[in-house]
Amino acid sequence: MSCLASRLARPELLEMVPYQSARRIGGSGDVWLNANESPFSDSLPAYNRYPEFQPTELVNNYARYANITTEQLLATRGADEAIELLIRTFCIPAQDSITICTPTYGMYAISAATCNVAVNTVPLTADWQLDPQLIDKLQSSKLLFICNPNNPTGSTLTPSQLEPIVAALQEQCIVVVDEAYIEFSPQLTMASLLDKYPNLVILRTLSKAFALAGLRCGFMLANTDIIELTKKVIAPYPVPAPVGEIAGQSLSVNGVMKMTSRVAQLNKLNQQFCDALLQLSGIRDIYRSGANFVLVRFDNEQWFSELAKEGIVVRNQSKVNTLENCLRFSIGSPAEMQCLIKVLTNISIAIK
Ligand SMILES: *Cc1c(COP(=O)(O)O)cnc(C)c1O
Repeated sequence: MSCLASRLARPELLEMVPYQSARRIGGSGDVWLNANESPFSDSLPAYNRYPEFQPTELVNNYARYANITTEQLLATRGADEAIELLIRTFCIPAQDSITICTPTYGMYAISAATCNVAVNTVPLTADWQLDPQLIDKLQSSKLLFICNPNNPTGSTLTPSQLEPIVAALQEQCIVVVDEAYIEFSPQLTMASLLDKYPNLVILRTLSKAFALAGLRCGFMLANTDIIELTKKVIAPYPVPAPVGEIAGQSLSVNGVMKMTSRVAQLNKLNQQFCDALLQLSGIRDIYRSGANFVLVRFDNEQWFSELAKEGIVVRNQSKVNTLENCLRFSIGSPAEMQCLIKVLTNISIAIK
């Protein structure tokens, strides 16, 4: 095992033998009496048997899509589960910390809190870039979470900005790049650097561009040492059989093509939405986004109640530090965006 993963892991996990579930032990034969399953099934396909630990078709298809090996991949119950798994695998409660760059996705801090792990916060700069002194401000955190494209700002970082940070921390810290929205800015992925850096972890999901949020399926991409450690911590049968089947199919060559064309359409709607916002008064900032949402800063909060009155539900970010008067708009269908632009135009005229 690489020095880094074993040095950073919670020490009790190193010698621990993972739970030997029936599927993991496996076997061969015609009479399967090893897992206390029911021999009967009312459903078609049959769900009386436990699923594979990591469904073969799912893992093969995602590895092909991401251009990595199946050993560099772990399928999880959404990227959210992967966040928690990393914290549980590497952070000793009441001792270790993670570092986050705010404003960012809220679950890093929540997952840390539920594990009694401290959160070290290094705010982004005013234009949503990483703090130039980030590396000096890590306070020995074992995990550094960087979301790219970032939620909720939509801001992006290039691999050439991120790689020096991963390189500098090779001996001391795992850099977790959350690529939940990477399909909307595919040129920014760090996946091709996995072979080079043992401390790089990438999170992915089917919830956004793949249009399967209801499935709860995400992925952790990392080197084998880290994947093997998290496999000790994850639940015995983490991917329900129907999820594996639907997700596996969605990642066929044809499924990926459908995703790509949806992304092109959403990116175009994003552009049109920003163009329309530029015409309105009462808006202070439109933050250019590499994802399927746009963060907008208004002159005042009056907009919020007017939107709500019209039945338009958006994410209010104004309680978040530095995001006063900000709303985050997901990019919806053409009809939804047309409706949204019309309502915003009317509000802009009314409260002038
Ligand atoms: C939506 C989101 C997730 C969670 O993804 P799931 O796969 O649905 O759990 C993780 N990270 C970011 C940045 C997100 O926006």
